[in-house]
Amino acid sequence: MTDRLKNKVALVTAAGQGIGRAIADALIAEGAKVIATDIAADKLKGLKAAKCAKLDVLSTKAVDAFAKSITKDFGALNVLVNVAGYVHQGTVLECSEKDWDFSFDLNVKSMHRTIKAFLPVMLKNGVGSIVNMSSGVSSIKGLPNRYAYGATKAAVIGLTKAVAADFITRGIRCNAICPGTIVSPSFEERVKAVSQTTGKPLKAVRENFIARQPMARLGTLVADAQRAQWQWALLSTHVGLAFRTAKAR
Ligand code: NAD
Repeated sequence: MTDRLKNKVALVTAAGQGIGRAIADALIAEGAKVIATDIAADKLKGLKAAKCAKLDVLSTKAVDAFAKSITKDFGALNVLVNVAGYVHQGTVLECSEKDWDFSFDLNVKSMHRTIKAFLPVMLKNGVGSIVNMSSGVSSIKGLPNRYAYGATKAAVIGLTKAVAADFITRGIRCNAICPGTIVSPSFEERVKAVSQTTGKPLKAVRENFIARQPMARLGTLVADAQRAQWQWALLSTHVGLAFRTAKAR
């Protein structure tokens, strides 16, 4: 670990568990002042963050109010990490309008909300890094039973490229991360759910998940290349998905 993020202000959504928590922990270890948020505030216990707070990214009102109070207390964010997301399991045939709308609301519109709320002050500061959690299951790859999920994560890549293209010349980098399958609490729930619906033993379901990974193993939190990828996205002074190179700051 370095102290490249010393005193940088970094907000993470869905920091209560899984990838969000691992990112919050790693940012803290890098010296950042982390604002760790989650809809379930109790899950944030134990994080050595500058602030832990409940934030439901489905609520525009809550996100706007939170942005105002954070700006007052911490100034502009240096880093915004949009992690909140949900996996709808199924094909188009099992996807109700409610499932579709919820998936887009949580996985995509939440990012629109946070970016819109925090970007103006980042722009005034003239620097900032936005990192959005997409997935390998997106415009990169289609997988069975990931209809709504894949559509939302492809939209995240589009949203990321659009923000990068609009604001890179004003000091704002916007990148997306596209992990493969990572073991997290919700991953374990998905294994159980598939086992229950298909009647296959847990071990067989797990092996199916592993079989579709090119590296023939599941990812673990912050223990492999995924960490390097997000660190790169956060720390690099160059642009990932945008067109030009940002002035190093
Ligand atoms: P997870 O699903 O285990 O945890 C999700 C967290 O989001 C929970 O702490 C939950 O309380 C929080 N949350 C749910 N609704 C919220 C809301 N409305 N507002 C704020 N927080 C809310 O975590 P994970 O599996 O590590 O997934 C995190 C992100 O990474 C998601 O966007 C997911 O799509 C993406 N992702 C995960 C994997 C994987 O295999 N685990 C792979 C690729 C991408």
